[in-house]
Amino acid sequence: MPELPEVEVTRRGIAPKLTGRLISAVRVRQPRLRWPVPRAVRSLAGRTVRGVRRRGKYLLVDCGDGHLILHLGMSGSLRVLPPGTPAGKHDHFDLVLGDRMLRLRDPRRFGAVLWTRAPVDAHPLLASLGVEPLSDELDGERLHRMTRGLRSPIKLFVMDGHRIVGVGNIYASESLFRARIDPRMAAGKLTKEKARLLAAAIRHTLQKAIRAGGSSLRDYVGADGESGGAQSRHWVYDREGKPCRRCRTPIKRIVQGQRSTYFCPSCQRP
Ligand SMILES: [Zn+2]
Repeated sequence: MPELPEVEVTRRGIAPKLTGRLISAVRVRQPRLRWPVPRAVRSLAGRTVRGVRRRGKYLLVDCGDGHLILHLGMSGSLRVLPPGTPAGKHDHFDLVLGDRMLRLRDPRRFGAVLWTRAPVDAHPLLASLGVEPLSDELDGERLHRMTRGLRSPIKLFVMDGHRIVGVGNIYASESLFRARIDPRMAAGKLTKEKARLLAAAIRHTLQKAIRAGGSSLRDYVGADGESGGAQSRHWVYDREGKPCRRCRTPIKRIVQGQRSTYFCPSCQRP
């Protein structure tokens, strides 16, 4: 499943190829994605792409009088291709911009192509999203304030998209290791110093994954592992029983919120 770093790598790949270009045609081959593709999407031709932003795992294509909202779902990918490229079975949507087109491939059809003329950040899908972990908004002070009074484990707090957006399971375990925080600790017990370390660790972990994905970025940008993504060496994730890369203590696996958490019981003491 494409995580925030893959989506950001996609954004960086497509944004310079789309921005400033006139939309010459739109093709919707399969309107039944996660939500039906609205009719208005078919009549976007004639608009100019002003830019491509990301909010959480949504890509927002600014078309001047509205935004195209794209989501890769479970298996989606976006590629910029020559406009005559034959469509495969899972190529559901093309945004043609003269000599190039943006194509959505999504075998499982959990992705989304939506359109809104309203202020996009207030869209029902975006309005309740948490803080952007890569923005300046997420610093230690903010994180400390956000966690006051919370008794849920810090790992679940970090993964809660209504609080911080886009920190998936791998990145949550990795970030907590970097900050040397026990994943079971109550979020409300986070000290100011630990909050600062955790904010920095989250940013570092996501940026590292973006760099790993970015190195394989050419005309293919997108999901399903082919673009490299975050396959780099993990500190703790998926390393149960293996020696900690810092202290050699065997890595432990526990289950929190039905997801596996990996941590070093020595480096991440309660
Ligand atoms: Zn360790």
